Amino acid sequence: MPKLDFLAQELESLHKQNLFNVIRTIEGPQGGWILVDGKKVLNLCSNNYLGFADHPELKSAAKKSIDDYGVGPGAVRSIAGTQTIHLELERKLAEFKHAEDCIVLQGGFVANLAVVPAITGDGDIIFSDELNHASIIDGCRLSKAKVVRYAHNNVEDLRKKILEHKDSARRMLVITDGVFSMDGDIAPLPEIVKVADEFGVMVMVDDAHGEGVLGDSGRGIVDHFNLQGKVEIEVGTLSKAFGVMGGFITGPKILIDYLKQKGRPFLFSTGLTPADTAAAMAAVDVLMESDELVRKLWDNAAYFQKGLKEAGFDIGKTETPITPVMLGEEGTAVKFSKRLFEKGIFAQSIVFPTVAKGKARIRCMLSASHEREDLDFALKTFTEVAKEMGVF
Ligand SMILES: *Cc1c(COP(=O)(O)O)cnc(C)c1O
Repeated sequence: MPKLDFLAQELESLHKQNLFNVIRTIEGPQGGWILVDGKKVLNLCSNNYLGFADHPELKSAAKKSIDDYGVGPGAVRSIAGTQTIHLELERKLAEFKHAEDCIVLQGGFVANLAVVPAITGDGDIIFSDELNHASIIDGCRLSKAKVVRYAHNNVEDLRKKILEHKDSARRMLVITDGVFSMDGDIAPLPEIVKVADEFGVMVMVDDAHGEGVLGDSGRGIVDHFNLQGKVEIEVGTLSKAFGVMGGFITGPKILIDYLKQKGRPFLFSTGLTPADTAAAMAAVDVLMESDELVRKLWDNAAYFQKGLKEAGFDIGKTETPITPVMLGEEGTAVKFSKRLFEKGIFAQSIVFPTVAKGKARIRCMLSASHEREDLDFALKTFTEVAKEMGVF
């Protein structure tokens, strides 16, 4: 179709710049080891932090819900698509997060698109960390509010920006990722809340990589810092540590009541299927019963990170199970990842423009589904590849 010829040029340009993303296929369930392109490899790429994506209790809850509720909700939540289990999941998540109320959406990405434009508009100012996730950036774009970026995790810069803009703002909102996914560092939320309180700025945190990871039994960053009741809006995902799919927002009842009237993805897009909903509920149940998987995740992360450091690798400023292995040169990182794959390890290179030029890395995602011998194998292989490539 000639009218689409411009796309061929765009794709070619991606190939030329080495930015074309070849998407691998996972044959079978997620887990510590996966089958990729016919090859069994150790999985250091997924956000399946707790192994929930293939957990027997989640799978049986999903299967049962299909018998009880069918396979699809049949309408948007606000018309005729809210099923009993949607409300049960919202109640359970609110209880888990020690929040007043909760609204569940189709994904974490969608949750950001739902909340930001609903609560901000013309005359408002949003202060956004410069490394915030794409879905926060898009949520801000959908709002008529003015967006002011502040330097990454820099509360002094945030304060400066608030002082510069506060007199012209109707209302103000600061938004930050809880855990930053490329470096594994944590937002200084207590300091952000302090500055925000000083100037009456609302606080929103997107805890996609903190959910199921930080805090008591994986209750997230607000619990981790003991800030219950001090953060207006918490966004979470059911697609990472929870192993399923979906997103949610927890906060005061008044916020959730409002979002059920005004959140456009809630009003105009069908909600989660019964199977997703039931599986997510089972994930929360498992976490409320025991923190065993969360502890295993952190033990694995500590063991792997210590091993990498002892071997001489630079793992940046991570404070979480996200483990960047800093390599610098784009070409080095891409080749390193390729050699790892040949030796049975699936760990992706992350390069410009996802991270700054010269900050290329291999990003390793640890999971409770890894065993000690898996991590020993990974450490040995990383060291072999590094020596072979003359990285050190
Ligand atoms: C992954 C991620 C999302 C998107 O979540 P989905 O449930 O996959 O849509 C949103 N925000 C942040 C910070 C993320 O890391």
